[in-house]
Amino acid sequence: MPTQPPQFGGSTPRKAWSSPHRLKPTPRKRGRAGQRDRAEVIAEEPFCRECLKNNRATPTAIVDHIKPLAWGGSDARSNKQGLCVPCHDLKSASEREVDRRSRG
Ligand SMILES: [Zn+2]
Repeated sequence: MPTQPPQFGGSTPRKAWSSPHRLKPTPRKRGRAGQRDRAEVIAEEPFCRECLKNNRATPTAIVDHIKPLAWGGSDARSNKQGLCVPCHDLKSASEREVDRRSRG
């Protein structure tokens, strides 16, 4: 009778997209890790991305999640952008609108 091969913990369960059908909010990094991530984005994007599109150089004030964590967006660098406060407010407002509509 064959015995099961031992498991060496090589297969860690994938958390992020284990259930693609359910939109799960991504936990936001807190404390020191979150601050370091924020500083990193601001260092790489010292000016608001949206303003740069309009040829304005407004200093980055907020590190924004391009796809909101609440919508299952990633907390990875590729999902982050630097925004100024007005641009971030605009984006948040439109996200709330989409959120409201999707809830019916
Ligand atoms: Zn801006």
